[in-house]
Amino acid sequence: MTHSLVAMSYIVATILFILSLSGLSNQETARKGNYYGMLGMAIAIIATTLSASVTSYTILIVAILIGGSIGVRAASKVAMTQMPELVAIMHSLVGMAAVLVGYANFMDNTIVIEGVERTIHELEIYLGILIGAVTFSGSVIAFCKLSERISGKPLLLPARHWFNLGLLISSIVLGWMFLHALETGGSPLIPLAMMTVIALIFGVHMVMAIGGADMPVVVSMLNSYSGWAAAATGFMLNNDLLIVTGALVGSSGAILSYIMCRAMNRHFLSVIAGGFGTASGGEAAAIEGEVQPIEAEETAQLLLAAKNIIIIPGYGMAVAQAQHTVYEITKLLRDKGKKVGFGIHPVAGRMPGHMNVLLAEAKVPYDIVFEMDEINEDWGKVDVSIVIGANDIVNPSAITDPNSPIAGMPVLECWKGETTIVLKRSMASGYAGVGNPLFVMENTRMLFGDANVTMQAVLKALRG
Ligand code: NDP
Repeated sequence: MTHSLVAMSYIVATILFILSLSGLSNQETARKGNYYGMLGMAIAIIATTLSASVTSYTILIVAILIGGSIGVRAASKVAMTQMPELVAIMHSLVGMAAVLVGYANFMDNTIVIEGVERTIHELEIYLGILIGAVTFSGSVIAFCKLSERISGKPLLLPARHWFNLGLLISSIVLGWMFLHALETGGSPLIPLAMMTVIALIFGVHMVMAIGGADMPVVVSMLNSYSGWAAAATGFMLNNDLLIVTGALVGSSGAILSYIMCRAMNRHFLSVIAGGFGTASGGEAAAIEGEVQPIEAEETAQLLLAAKNIIIIPGYGMAVAQAQHTVYEITKLLRDKGKKVGFGIHPVAGRMPGHMNVLLAEAKVPYDIVFEMDEINEDWGKVDVSIVIGANDIVNPSAITDPNSPIAGMPVLECWKGETTIVLKRSMASGYAGVGNPLFVMENTRMLFGDANVTMQAVLKALRG
């Protein structure tokens, strides 16, 4: 393929990636957005494969076969609830690729450039490895936290901010030593390797210090880092498409982190510094009161008596895969003339947009799905709200208890409605590990059991 044909294919792929991102920003166009992304990636892979930069087709085909089959297997086997972990581990691969490409570039004697261009290239290698290593180790820890292999509690080392500052200053000094050694014929590998170890430690420490409730920001932040790591790889490989794609992912991830921070009423820097919400010194209030259980039959009666119903899905709905039964109930109630809506918290579930994906899968119409801000004004008009496997996102202590680890996070204030029915299996706390006073409020009823089983029982009772 000629150079200009490759360049043209890259431009087409870039346009498709931009269309993909804009498609993914809206539920109705998300499917189309995915198709644009797939088409763009197919064009990018074909153009790169046929470009002059490929020196060995055997290695390339073997690598594509190995990587492709791992990807197909992972994506087809993964349960919907494990998707955030899969995304985290994929981010770690982008980071690892940046580190490996950086070292390969560093060792490549065939690259002959001089002067400023050479210094820029060396700086690209250094920064590429730095960002890649932070992304790699941070994503591995995020994977472990999301899959509950390690505790979601923040690890707060004494003087951790000084420790982070020390790591940052060491990386800058080592960068200078690396460039200096290259110019004077010293041994640049030593500062480069030391910086790699420091960046790996920084990635681990940064994510370990972030508490469970702040994990959404970590997920989107690592998404952004993986983009910058890909862009750095693009600079090292002189590949324009990789630079543009990396920058698109990096900046969209940064915007998502900002949106997540705003949704959780957090400052980005406080989240990154870690341990947010645990520094107030006081103990979170203990939850006292009587739980009032309810059965499926009675739940059905309450729903039949209600006019205005709001459904609040959370992570437990994803675990129970209850979305289809929930929609069956919604259709039935709407057919009976009830007003039924869904209230979506921005950090519900375990990844941005998790609930929207589940509801779209069950074919819930978009016009009855509302964001938290749209719904929080209107709780006074709600007769019954059903909380399906949600916990942190409906926790009143975020508003009432300044010592709570989730203090300050806006939540869906369903307790302001007439009756709230909470579906979950036990009194266990949610992802942030915080007790929830909603469960013992006077107007709350607890429907215990797997959400799909209890929802099916409610559906049966409604039909009966
Ligand atoms: P939570 O994790 O707070 O609560 C989920 C609840 O679902 C649990 O209390 C659990 O209780 C219940 N549950 C689990 N399985 C079932 C089941 N089969 N049937 C019925 N109930 C079930 O989820 P939320 O959605 O309320 O909040 C999301 C949390 O995750 C927030 O803290 C958020 O910060 C965090 N997070 C979000 C990310 C994102 O991007 N959205 C990323 C990372 C973290 P029980 O065991 O008693 O059944």
